[in-house]
Amino acid sequence: MNVALITGGASGIGRAIATALVLRGDTVTVADLDKRGADEVAGRLSGHGTAEAAELDVTDPDAVSALYRDVRERHGRLDLVFNNAGIAVGGRTDELTLDHWNRTLDVNLRGVIHGVHAAYPIMVAQGHGHILNTASLAGLVPAPMMLPYTTTKHAVVGLSLGLRAEAAAAGVRVSAICPGFVDTPLLDNANPDLPPTEAATNAREAALRIQRRLYTAEALARDVLRGIDKNQALIVAPASARAAWRGVRLSPEGAVRVARRGLSRLRP
Ligand code: NAD
Repeated sequence: MNVALITGGASGIGRAIATALVLRGDTVTVADLDKRGADEVAGRLSGHGTAEAAELDVTDPDAVSALYRDVRERHGRLDLVFNNAGIAVGGRTDELTLDHWNRTLDVNLRGVIHGVHAAYPIMVAQGHGHILNTASLAGLVPAPMMLPYTTTKHAVVGLSLGLRAEAAAAGVRVSAICPGFVDTPLLDNANPDLPPTEAATNAREAALRIQRRLYTAEALARDVLRGIDKNQALIVAPASARAAWRGVRLSPEGAVRVARRGLSRLRP
């Protein structure tokens, strides 16, 4: 039985992972900006195991540190940390404002950095633990029309792989989760509190043109639990995402050509 904490746990991928963890007997803190959503998820899961809700804005480093320390103190250890909260931001690069860039960096990259900064010393001190940072397939392949997003996700992959090498000697594991498109509310809420763009407004439609069938958060959660058991550096799913990733490794220029062809499919 593990003590786990997941950010962005009120919805989508975070909620599915929290559910899978509780059902296998873990104790889970569901942390989210959306306190009501976190309460709802933790309340529903409490019938099946141990789950608690916490309000958390991952852009606030002190709040992240305080919550991670609090979970460690109350439960005696912190085995699994999922730095998962994120937002989708997209649009043509020439129409994006610096607010689009900065907000994405704040949530998707600094949010993960805050989580690592809070969790890693705890795990080093206890001599074990596993940090899982949610990146994206967009962190591995060329992803036009969502440059703030793909920039942060590439950074999360780099952070995770580098830390994985450094952390191994301390007994701490680090992985990045890199899903293709997953059927979650994220696809209907791109550019939250930011100027709308055509690409963001049609994100779900665009996702369906690129990846004919959206993956489910529940199937991804199963992949994630398997990835934890196998201690995979990168958990890439579904199979179509692994194929796209293989394409980049074989020929980066070829992958850019594929992305350019994909762009023409995005035009209605
Ligand atoms: P979602 O919108 O369903 O859930 C994201 C959750 O994060 C929400 O509950 C939201 O309230 C929370 N959140 C947002 N900003 C926050 C903040 N500042 N502090 C704390 N919580 C905050 O989206 P999802 O699809 O479940 O996304 C989860 C992660 O998976 C994200 O990092 C996303 O980039 C990544 N991802 C999603 C997809 C996809 O297609 N859905 C694909 C690849 C990667």
